[in-house]
Amino acid sequence: MRSIDIHAHSTPQSFVKAVAAGRDWHGMKSGEGAGNPRNAWTPEQRIADMNSLGVDVQVVSTAAAFYQYHRDPQVATAIARECNDEVRQMTLDYPARLAGFATLPMQDVPAAIDELERAVTQLGLKGAMIDDKVRGRTYDEPEFLPFWKAAEQMGAVIFIHQLGGDTSVKGRADRYHQPNTIGNLVDRTVTFAALVLGGVMDACPDLKVCLAHGGGYTCYAIGRIDRGWRTRPDAKGHASQPPSSYLRRFYYDCIVYDERALRFLIDSVGVDRVVLGTDWPADMCLDWPVSWVLGMESLTQAEKEAILYKNLEKLLGL
Ligand SMILES: [Zn+2]
Repeated sequence: MRSIDIHAHSTPQSFVKAVAAGRDWHGMKSGEGAGNPRNAWTPEQRIADMNSLGVDVQVVSTAAAFYQYHRDPQVATAIARECNDEVRQMTLDYPARLAGFATLPMQDVPAAIDELERAVTQLGLKGAMIDDKVRGRTYDEPEFLPFWKAAEQMGAVIFIHQLGGDTSVKGRADRYHQPNTIGNLVDRTVTFAALVLGGVMDACPDLKVCLAHGGGYTCYAIGRIDRGWRTRPDAKGHASQPPSSYLRRFYYDCIVYDERALRFLIDSVGVDRVVLGTDWPADMCLDWPVSWVLGMESLTQAEKEAILYKNLEKLLGL
């Protein structure tokens, strides 16, 4: 059975080579890149590992460490362009095995729109991966609406993914890896709420957004978000419908680690909205993602096919 992975990262080889030679890369130092050794792997090593995992296609996104939203927008734009050019080259070298997402300088919305347009129309990338927030601001802020409108118009898929442990939990529970294991899921739920209650999903009916890590706690929390929307004026935001009615407007990767959680996600959003993600090559990745999905007793064969490849074939035109 075919398999397409929407959640797989890369570290630019130009960064790897620069820091190995003792140089900075656009001001980024060695420790600022993604940490584990597999991040430095070449495309050839990547494909050998994909073969061992049974993954046919990866949609490659540059690691979140390269968002660099805190830097001068011109520097972040230069970083994004070099990252995106390198991902594009990977897709040209291995067109049957690799597709790509862009990274964008989100701290400068016009520059982010320009780079998304270049990535989609000139480089052939499928969309972009962005953080849950930009310099502390969430996507219900009106300054971001032109970005969402532009992404909708381009047909770009926007993949929402946290920056390591830099999540909203970090300020209160910065131990035991909780900013990632818990905060990551909190931030994804906040992003769902920002896009729905901030009116973005109403303003952009054809927008394609994929929430990493199963959308975090969104499905488990949706009853409470609905209750607030129905009973409290301040919880209504700009959403015209109950928040639960927007669940099917998003896509969700399957990185929830627990079969019962994946079953609940499918039953909440519909199997046509759940896609394979692995988080390659992070330490928090699914070790044997394809085998994991294929081995589930609670999923039908048709559901496994939808998750492993059919939904992404349709969404990304692969
Ligand atoms: Zn990831």
